[in-house]
Amino acid sequence: MKADNRREFLKKSLLGISGVALVPGSLKLNIAKPLLETATSELPVRLLGKSGLKTPLISMGTSDATSSGLIRSAYESGIKLFFSATYYGEGNNEKLVGEGLKGLPRDSFIIGTAVPPDGMDMKTGTFPNGFDANAYIKKAEGSLKRFGLDYVDVFLFPYAGKKETVLNEGVLKALAQLKKQGKTRFLGIASHSDTEEALKAAADSGVYDIAMPAYNFKAKNKESMNAAIAYAVKTGMGIVAMKTTAGGARDKSGTPLNISAALKWVLQNENVSSIVSGMSSFEQLQNNIALMNNLKMTEQELKDLNITGQLSEPGLYCHQCKKCVPDCPHNLDIPTMMRSYMYAYGYKNIKQAWHTMAEVKYSNQCDNCKICTVNCTASFDIRNKIKDITRLKDVPADLIQA
Ligand code: SF4
Ligand code: SF4
Repeated sequence: MKADNRREFLKKSLLGISGVALVPGSLKLNIAKPLLETATSELPVRLLGKSGLKTPLISMGTSDATSSGLIRSAYESGIKLFFSATYYGEGNNEKLVGEGLKGLPRDSFIIGTAVPPDGMDMKTGTFPNGFDANAYIKKAEGSLKRFGLDYVDVFLFPYAGKKETVLNEGVLKALAQLKKQGKTRFLGIASHSDTEEALKAAADSGVYDIAMPAYNFKAKNKESMNAAIAYAVKTGMGIVAMKTTAGGARDKSGTPLNISAALKWVLQNENVSSIVSGMSSFEQLQNNIALMNNLKMTEQELKDLNITGQLSEPGLYCHQCKKCVPDCPHNLDIPTMMRSYMYAYGYKNIKQAWHTMAEVKYSNQCDNCKICTVNCTASFDIRNKIKDITRLKDVPADLIQA
């Protein structure tokens, strides 16, 4: 296949995966919409633990934002807390957020970013070759440059799970240094897996101020999760929930789930200060603003969540429980692949799906299996999902960043 044809083919494959068009850089909207009707002061806020920060019930996860105009509109509509990550668009997302907030009084917004450590084994959540504190600090400083800021309000340590990782001496040393140098005001963790363990360790450490756990209506262990959140809050931590829409769609073809109901469900827990919601459009922004003033769940919303939460409907949300890993004779990193699958088919965020897949080692091991021996607790058809999502491995980086 000629290079041009191959690029075209890959682009079409991508559209097939995500169901959305990639937005060429030159077509990205770069203007802020006029102020929405609701003023900042009218949005209900909750206290973010001992940090003393107050934030509206919904904050902005910026990974899905394709324009600085959307960031600015969110700010002008009353959103105060913005969370990015160094790995969103290879740092370009942090630049976009910086552009969107440029020139505003620094104390009028709260900005956080997640800086993942290098050398983490995603399957175990540990550092088999140790943790390089200096390299981590350098990486975190790169975020400040991209935002165009002297400091952020929160540095999050992401993929926090195992207690030994949350309390790793090198990690704590690097984070303490960043705080001491005034590069961040507060420290936090973000956790997709072993979340209860991570919350307890972070709370007991007294080092972390904020936690961002995956938390939604599909959680299997709601009671123990609620208890872990309550424990962290009792020690003064502020909770910002993520993955609150449990995949954002009911299946691969994008059958919608009741997003408002899913967000309201999370906010019924008053220990959750705010939700970090990935917003990619003005419409989503407006819906979120409206939702904050009406948290009461209707009968229909409860019914919708009940149906979508049934085990008979596997959906797109992977619990990151890792129970599948020992079932696979090739020890594949299935949880990370399933997270990528959710980004691609649920959140329609092909860039994030691609970056997540880039962490996974896969060389067609499934082709050599007569039967798939994996038993997924979410009833996923693992083999077929792997087949779909590993196509991203063939897509070159420049096409994704185009
Ligand atoms: S068993 Fe299923 S839900 Fe759990 S991590 Fe594996 S793929 Fe995800
Ligand atoms: S088919 Fe199933 S058991 Fe075989 S490599 Fe793939 S995930 Fe593992």
